Amino acid sequence: MNVQKTCEQFRTYLDRIKALQNASSLLHWDAATGAPRKAVDDRSKTIGILAAEIFSLATSEDMHTYLTTLEPSVSELDPITAALVRECRKDYDKMTKIPADEYKAYSELCAKSMSVWEDAKEASDFSMFAPLLEKIVDYNRKFVQYRGHEGHPYNTLLDDYEPGITVEKLDAFFGVLREKIVPLVKKIAQSTKQIRTDFTSRSFSVEQQKAFSLYVLEKIGYDLDAGMLKESAHPFTLGFSPNDIRITTHYYPENFTSAIFSTVHEAGHAIYEQNVDQDLAGTLLSEGTSMGIHESQSRFYENILGRSLGFWKYFYPKLQELFSEQLKDVSIEQLHEAVNHSTPSLIRIEADELTYSLHVMVRYEIEKALLEGQIQVKDLPSIWNQKMEEYLGITPKNDKEGVLQDVHWSDGMFGYFPSYALGNAYGAQFVHSMKKELDLEKLVTEGQFEPIKTWLRENIHRHGKMLSPNEIIQKVTGEDLNPLYFTQYLEEKYTQLYGL
Ligand SMILES: [Zn+2]
Repeated sequence: MNVQKTCEQFRTYLDRIKALQNASSLLHWDAATGAPRKAVDDRSKTIGILAAEIFSLATSEDMHTYLTTLEPSVSELDPITAALVRECRKDYDKMTKIPADEYKAYSELCAKSMSVWEDAKEASDFSMFAPLLEKIVDYNRKFVQYRGHEGHPYNTLLDDYEPGITVEKLDAFFGVLREKIVPLVKKIAQSTKQIRTDFTSRSFSVEQQKAFSLYVLEKIGYDLDAGMLKESAHPFTLGFSPNDIRITTHYYPENFTSAIFSTVHEAGHAIYEQNVDQDLAGTLLSEGTSMGIHESQSRFYENILGRSLGFWKYFYPKLQELFSEQLKDVSIEQLHEAVNHSTPSLIRIEADELTYSLHVMVRYEIEKALLEGQIQVKDLPSIWNQKMEEYLGITPKNDKEGVLQDVHWSDGMFGYFPSYALGNAYGAQFVHSMKKELDLEKLVTEGQFEPIKTWLRENIHRHGKMLSPNEIIQKVTGEDLNPLYFTQYLEEKYTQLYGL
């Protein structure tokens, strides 16, 4: 066997998969950013055919042969091909260990379940959705058995989004968050500090908001020659290669801060992928290494930079120039306080930086118990409400603003939520290291975002998927995940903001 030749054939084979993925992604992008409404059925059919093609290439006899041929000589391969073999093996095992007919039935169940969930949410009636969710949970428990697991069964699902993370690590992680954040939230609730937010609901023209978003994007280092900004119902980032990473945002005339922070959040995701090494372009390694590391970058730009006083010292003059009437009686400090205003709320996606991770904790505890078989699907509304009361001190009045609010479970996505909270913690841990080399506050206040981006590129972005999340954290910070950097950051920030 000629390893070199097999390598080349393997890479060409992967190019085919990547091309089909790109075509499919472009259809999704088109659908979300303005394709004709009547095209939905035709487009769904095309997407379905592409997905089946991708699946068959990724699980084919050819793929099996490439993997078994290259794996014994993995130490002789170039590092990129070796990493590709490792990643393809993971995907191959994941897709082939579950019997094809069961997986097909499950996919159909999820497709149906999404629309049932929508109706149930609209009617605020969990009992409409519960029978399907029960089946989805059963399938997931069964799939974990097919796929195998080390330690807790939930570990297998967690690993899909955050390689290396386990229930053991997350129990400790959320334990710290619970211990530190819950009392802080209570303290703020008792604080007498008045934060002015009246001006955030004044009317801001969408055109001007767009101009400001583009202005910020360019300044913070999103490369508009390797990306674009469009509008969609829910903001997202879509990447093809470092040379084409697109983002969307959503403008609300009566809530101008929403688009600013969505745009900056998605820019954080996009800057990550735009700065992956060009050597990895066109391969499946040209992505963020995990959901959690990805969120660490988006939340770094959105919260740690975007909600800092320095950021607004730099950007406020431009904002005031565009909205001189709406902001004539608002100082920088008032704006900074308004965008950091914290209060327990029911909806995760609207939660502030402080309380956000508690929403994730509720979902983590429920998913873990479901996978263990410790709790029943039918009891979820009351379990949900109890946990909200315990951690946030508020109880949803109905299922719509409680257990039915998120789409993830209807699509079988168990194990995804913790990444959001991990992202917050990774971000703060990276910043602790960054500050040893850079005067972050000074740079942001002066609008010097290039050295920050360079630091992130050198330490995190350029590696793409070549390094695992834990390898990156170890390399950058010299230790494993440590949530204390995040809780310290929150304590300092909110103590100051609320004068606690
Ligand atoms: Zn995100």
